[in-house]
Amino acid sequence: MFAMFHALLDVEVKTLIAVLFWGNLVSVALILSYRLFIPDLRNRFLFSCASMAKLAQAAAYFCLFFRGVLPDIVSVNMGNSLLFTGFYLEALSLLIIIQALDRRSHGLLFGVLGVSLLLFNGIELVYPDASIRVVSASAGVFLIMASPSIRLLSARPVSPLKITVGIFYLLFTVLLIPRAFYALFHDITVLSNALAQSLAFISLILLLMFGLSAFLLLIKENSDEIISALATTDYLTGLPNRRNFSEQATRLFAQGKQAHSALSVLFLDIDCFKEINDRYGHAFGDAILLKVARLVRSRRSLTSSDFPCRYGGDEFIVLLHDVLPGESAQITGRIMDEVAKTRFAEYPDFAFTVSIGVHEGHPEGDDTLENYLRKADLALYAAKNGGRNQVVEYRDDME
Ligand code: GH3
Ligand code: MG
Repeated sequence: MFAMFHALLDVEVKTLIAVLFWGNLVSVALILSYRLFIPDLRNRFLFSCASMAKLAQAAAYFCLFFRGVLPDIVSVNMGNSLLFTGFYLEALSLLIIIQALDRRSHGLLFGVLGVSLLLFNGIELVYPDASIRVVSASAGVFLIMASPSIRLLSARPVSPLKITVGIFYLLFTVLLIPRAFYALFHDITVLSNALAQSLAFISLILLLMFGLSAFLLLIKENSDEIISALATTDYLTGLPNRRNFSEQATRLFAQGKQAHSALSVLFLDIDCFKEINDRYGHAFGDAILLKVARLVRSRRSLTSSDFPCRYGGDEFIVLLHDVLPGESAQITGRIMDEVAKTRFAEYPDFAFTVSIGVHEGHPEGDDTLENYLRKADLALYAAKNGGRNQVVEYRDDME
């Protein structure tokens, strides 16, 4: 059995390098075609980086393949420098995808690239030995790829995909180490056939195949996160939208029912908002909506277990659970005070008001969230009818 695995690893190194050349070239074509033919791509820099990474690696393997045919300055110096640059660009792409490319991490990565380039070419200049070359080339690629692998493992928000990609990247890069050790004690060149050599090149092929799928999957994960945020968040205020509210509030309502805790629904609507829009313009109306959103979200007004949302146009709902007696009156009072104090630099004399309908109770039995919302809405209707700029609690005689 061991002999069979050994045979599967004992592959001719030159063939593996040719596969790496072709594989990287095909990847360039794939990534570039996506980069070129989708004009409104969100992150053009990422795709440029990724395609340049594969191009540099393809060119590097071309130079390595023709060791002894091309002059050493091309095959050795340029080949390995291109390889380092290719892996640096690949690492950069990974950091961009996981949104971990800050000044510090880029500086670190760029520094590692610089050190690898200097060390490799410096050693080559003073001590041009084939085995030492293999050691410094393996060490360079390992150092460059180690940093994004580790960053993937700790990237936020944590996802199983990022951790898996991080582990695989780390594994494939670690497999370069036996090659460096082997070269320390044996006389080899880049094209020598040895188990440690083929193991390293097979791992680079796996890295190429796995890296491309990982690249696409990580981008997909990012887009899914963006789409999910767009689908659940109100575009103007950043508050949860009605759809998101319905899902979360149903869950919170069921929890409240189970725990027999007090639950309160605040239904807030801006007074005469249509008129404000007509008189001061839509953009100013938006500024008011933003201000109200900030007030209903503000920790000064609400406790941490509350769920605010923009329900529609100028309507906001806040679901308070585990409310203490008198707490929702305190919260609505604070919101009314803050609204009354609000002034805008564009129109210093302008002030606006809001109306709030409240329904509070201990949900049980047949009670539903819809019923609570309906009652808070009835209370809001009464507040509007009562002359606006007020808070009204639901009463049975409003039905
Ligand atoms: P009331 O005191 O009875 O609530 O009167 P109102 O004028 O506020 O009436 P209503 O609540 O029905 O008006 C809602 C207005 O909100 C109508 C619509 O033009 C405006 N609106 C809805 N969405 C937006 C938005 O995103 N931005 C702005 N600026 N206005 C919006
Ligand atoms: Mg209104």
